[in-house]
Amino acid sequence: MPANVEMDKIVSLCKRRGFVFPSSEIYGGLASCWDYGPMGVELKRNVRDAWWKAVVHERDDVVGLDSAIMMHPRVWEASGHVDGFADPMVDCKSCRLRWRADELEKEICPGCGGDLTEPRMFNLMFKTFMGPLEQEANIVYLRPETAQGIFVNFENVLTTSRKKLPLGIAQIGKSFRNEITTGNFIFRTREFEQLELEYFVRPGTDEKWFDYWVKERFDWYVRLGISKDNLRLRQHGKDELAHYARDCYDIDYLFPMGWSELEGIANRGDFDLTQHAGASGREITYFDTESNEKYVPYVIEPSAGVDRSVLAFLIDAYDDEEIEGEKRTVLHLHPDLAPIKVAVLPLSRNEKLTPLARDVYRQICTGFVTDYDDSQSIGRRYRRQDEIGTPFCVTVDFDSLEDKQVTIRDRDSLAQIRVPIEELNAILEAKLKGEAFDSSSLWATRQK
Ligand code: ATP
Repeated sequence: MPANVEMDKIVSLCKRRGFVFPSSEIYGGLASCWDYGPMGVELKRNVRDAWWKAVVHERDDVVGLDSAIMMHPRVWEASGHVDGFADPMVDCKSCRLRWRADELEKEICPGCGGDLTEPRMFNLMFKTFMGPLEQEANIVYLRPETAQGIFVNFENVLTTSRKKLPLGIAQIGKSFRNEITTGNFIFRTREFEQLELEYFVRPGTDEKWFDYWVKERFDWYVRLGISKDNLRLRQHGKDELAHYARDCYDIDYLFPMGWSELEGIANRGDFDLTQHAGASGREITYFDTESNEKYVPYVIEPSAGVDRSVLAFLIDAYDDEEIEGEKRTVLHLHPDLAPIKVAVLPLSRNEKLTPLARDVYRQICTGFVTDYDDSQSIGRRYRRQDEIGTPFCVTVDFDSLEDKQVTIRDRDSLAQIRVPIEELNAILEAKLKGEAFDSSSLWATRQK
């Protein structure tokens, strides 16, 4: 799948088709904040669901959690965020643009070539006050990662889930970072959503589980349609490792601006549980009934972003094609991710066709996310569905009134098959699960 598409094309498709809009647009927008429209909200949900299915539902060693965004301020002291979650910030003395010093190739302003100030450390956590008094004692932070909610609930989850190690706790939720530089559309924003798994293991088995999760997470993107050529694994060098990490790999994607992190997988050792045990005065350990040992588990953390994944899936699915002299833009999204699975398109808005088409819509909409569209020419309606990545269009025509059959059109091959309305749901279900779409398939042959 080609991924050499400019970001502008993605931004424009997202706006045109209702995936992503600039936030507060009627007031001129708010820097680095974006709103997900009707198509975007479905795509985002599908990314979350696909992750949850793979990481929680299809395994018996991972359970879920939904912890609060605001946590006790001491959490962030113990985790190291109050002292250490900071980036070095520099300002250009000429044009006043602000940069992250660790991201600059040269010690001059990338905007105008001007001189830069000395780096100042800038803490990325958003602060606010709990209760009516804006005073130091009432400071709370908006979480910069969801992981800490998992660590502080480790005991609660362990005792109530009655699980043994290895045990994973998964969480999806919003995180906030007052990033110095944002940009590249939804790649780096100040409010974003994370997909985080903390997988607790017995020390000594951590390296094995680390390798396991690096592979598992890489394969997840490939299973959902991202081309292997556009993904790579990058191990962090010793000087780059975060203070808590024993090892770390990034899964990078070839975004239009170059290779950039899609997900990080870290071996965090026992850093977090030890820190919280020390700061809270609680003993946070695991008693292994098989070996009769008590220990502090090590943790492997695959940490991904919903918004960044959405962007990568969109870029990888995007294609401008020319078919039989006609141009079309298409999103070859995996059916599990496509916002709309099936579109019902009556050949025209006609008083005879409409009742049957509405019946077909009602028949399938309880099984699949379905769109009904009878607004313009059939060609335009196909193009719209291609642009939002709808895998199948069902066309109801005048023959359908007689033979009680409809035509299914495949987004990718453009092949069409004619099938009985009675069997439509079963056929669509099989096709959405990946059954080959071929005009010489059973249904087409039956038709002949
Ligand atoms: P970066 O170096 O790109 O700032 P990071 O290494 O600080 O990222 P992590 O702390 O490892 O990021 O966060 C895990 C994941 O959360 C990232 O791989 C990314 O998908 C997502 N993420 C982190 N920061 C942002 C952000 N500002 N906007 C969107 N997604 C983010």
